[in-house]
Amino acid sequence: MKVAVIGAGFSGMLAAYLLEKEGIDVTIYEKNEYIGGHCQTIVSKNVYTELGTVFSFSKNIKELLIELQVDYREYFIYKNYIDENCNCVEHMSREDVSLLIKELDRLKLILSNYPESLKSINFGYIHEDLMVSFREFAKVHQLKYICQIITPFLSSFGLGSIDDLQAYYIFKVFDLNTLYSFIRGDKLLSFNKGTSELITKLSQNISDIRYSLEVKNVEVVDDKVKVEVAYGSEYFDKVLITTKLPRDVIKDKLYNQLMKKIETNPFIAVAYEVHNRDLATTYYKANLGKKGRIQFFFSSKQNNRTTLVAYAYGTISKEIIDGMTKDIERFGVNIKQLITVKQWYIFPHLKAENLTQDFYKDINDRQKTSNIGLIGSLVTEPSIDNLYVSVKNSVNEVIDYYKNHFQ
Ligand SMILES: Cc1cc2nc3c(=O)[nH]c(=O)nc-3n(C[C@H](O)[C@H](O)[C@H](O)COP(=O)(O)OP(=O)(O)OC[C@H]3O[C@@H](n4cnc5c(N)ncnc54)[C@H](O)[C@@H]3O)c2cc1C
Repeated sequence: MKVAVIGAGFSGMLAAYLLEKEGIDVTIYEKNEYIGGHCQTIVSKNVYTELGTVFSFSKNIKELLIELQVDYREYFIYKNYIDENCNCVEHMSREDVSLLIKELDRLKLILSNYPESLKSINFGYIHEDLMVSFREFAKVHQLKYICQIITPFLSSFGLGSIDDLQAYYIFKVFDLNTLYSFIRGDKLLSFNKGTSELITKLSQNISDIRYSLEVKNVEVVDDKVKVEVAYGSEYFDKVLITTKLPRDVIKDKLYNQLMKKIETNPFIAVAYEVHNRDLATTYYKANLGKKGRIQFFFSSKQNNRTTLVAYAYGTISKEIIDGMTKDIERFGVNIKQLITVKQWYIFPHLKAENLTQDFYKDINDRQKTSNIGLIGSLVTEPSIDNLYVSVKNSVNEVIDYYKNHFQ
């Protein structure tokens, strides 16, 4: 059996790695001359700076890191919240936290009404109550403190505002466990040599990676799938797509509808070297959710050098970068130099008005019969710990098919 995977981000690399481990012939296509997608680490004399994925929950992914001997550590992340005058303020007072805990108990009961929508790891059927914007849902159920705790994380995840995002999507990304973990302040896992080490180790186990080959056409022809790039085409028994493709690349009406509707937010990461200081991860409360304004920064100290990476919504302009630099300096950080500026398009998601209750259910049903499959952040919450489980499940279905039909 021959499988093609489109996109060499974490999802595609993991899928190819797991398939090849089972002896399946797999080809991975990547449009860029580099792999990793949203996992990109820059290195300078033993200093590793993440421009994309930084931390991971560790529940599931640890087994992969151990298997590949990827260096990681787990630690508590300290967070500052600052107001418009750069004074440190509490994100939530003690009284607010105790009210939040009561609200979470109530939320648990509310969400227990929607097991069909919220239980599965991938997106699926959406109960009509969850089709509304998160702000509306929170208003109806009086979830004031849950709104308050989620807002900075929406900004830091590059997801945008609670007005644009549907309650369903929010509860898929911030399930009860995640919300409780924010209060408990659980440890997070980070990669000592950057997420790029994980991608490199996966690549060392994948035989056929095609670089700088953008897939332009995916089409079922008889019982095969044709994958076309600018310089030719090849036929596969199964194709797994991990990424948003331009409209009409996939010759499948339903999948193509999904591609047309997916939105991604422009998000900017700016890395600086700063004079040595211990800096906690800092959220700019007055800016949260605002375009073109710094949302938060985190810093890391390695080999006596401190790097700081700051984030804002928007497309890169000198004005935005200058504004971010000023806001960091206003907080008292002494910047040594700018290292790099990177434009991201982040978190494929669908606006509420573009969804029907059965949209993802129909996609899941199509996956059962089609030899084109959608995996990774197209069909599930895009955090790498969650992607690990979801991609593994998708790949296991392909492996079962292989064992039943080809062995
Ligand atoms: C700034 C930032 C910070 C983040 N922080 C975290 C974090 O701390 N923790 C966490 O868990 N997650 C984080 N994420 C999210 C996480 O990085 C992503 O969800 C995850 O890496 C997505 O991986 P993926 O493989 O599904 O998609 P992608 O990384 O988007 O990979 C898709 C790949 O497909 C390629 N491609 C696109 N079109 C084509 C085509 N036509 N032909 C061939 N190839 C194509 C792309 O070039 C890309 O390499 C962050 C993301 C960003 C941007």
